Amino acid sequence: HAKHGLLETLCFYDADIASEVRERRQLAEDLRLALENDELEVHYQVQMALDGEHIHGYEALLRWHHPEKGSISPAVFIPIAEENGLIGPVGAWVLRRSCRDASHWLPPYRVAVNVSAVQFMDANLPNLVQEVLLETGLSPDRLELELTETALIKDQARSLHIMRQIKALGVGIALDDFGTGYSSLGTLRTFPFDKIKLDKSFIDDVGQDRQSKAIIRAILALGKSLDIPVLAEGIETSEQMELLRAEGCDEGQGFLLGRPSPNSALAGQGGPKQRKNEEAA
Ligand code: C2E
Ligand code: MG
Ligand code: MG
Ligand code: MG
Repeated sequence: HAKHGLLETLCFYDADIASEVRERRQLAEDLRLALENDELEVHYQVQMALDGEHIHGYEALLRWHHPEKGSISPAVFIPIAEENGLIGPVGAWVLRRSCRDASHWLPPYRVAVNVSAVQFMDANLPNLVQEVLLETGLSPDRLELELTETALIKDQARSLHIMRQIKALGVGIALDDFGTGYSSLGTLRTFPFDKIKLDKSFIDDVGQDRQSKAIIRAILALGKSLDIPVLAEGIETSEQMELLRAEGCDEGQGFLLGRPSPNSALAGQGGPKQRKNEEAA
């Protein structure tokens, strides 16, 4: 837009930003309603051992079907929830629903629930987790929370305190999207993670480029020496799967192994058999 003067350019961007702000505010309002009207859903994606057929558990992934806009990605609406004071209720809803669903799966399947940065820094999170476990009867060792590094770096002392309280309940904590943030190695030294989730971007390139393979190898070696299992995210091809298996990766997740699906569809995929008798309880 070189022909615009400075003033027009500023107005142009201004109008743009204003409409963006309006749009986000509207989405926040819609999300609030969706939560009230029970229009959110949780889908589950299988996490399995790469050395065989063994299923470890399922990651809970939030789904929102907007009445007019269709499906909206959690990558879009979670940040909006964070900005608008909605992540508390949304996060609590996901935790409750996931733990309730998992409590009907036959043991030992675990459920992994994503916790956003804002949600994690809420000092009440350990209480909420404890309350939901009591309420649903899910054994703490069958719940894992997934955190990214951004959740931890702002206030390390506070993060560590919250993390220890959650771990003291017997709940596991995984480091999500590992390798994409910064200060990765320091994070692993400071925080007692139970699992490392290797980001999909490394897996995407593993067949093509030597660098990705080298990084994966280094992270797997790191996991081994720290005694923390590594899960590879976003496995889409059997080549990727074979390569990761050959490199000694413990666990994997991705479209090749299973798409995120509603709870009701899991049993049909050879997933967790649901306990039959408890639905009425
Ligand atoms: P994430 O926790 O890293 O979840 C993995 C994402 O990768 C999911 O996207 C999943 O559907 C997708 N995925 C899994 N396997 C494959 C594959 O083989 N290929 C491709 N292309 N994608 C794959 P989704 O469900 O859209 O979620 C995006 C992000 O939104 C999540 O990334 C997580 O950070 C956030 N999120 C999702 N649900 C929740 C939630 O309940 N609470 C919070 N706080 N964040 C959530
Ligand atoms: Mg995750
Ligand atoms: Mg991830
Ligand atoms: Mg992610």
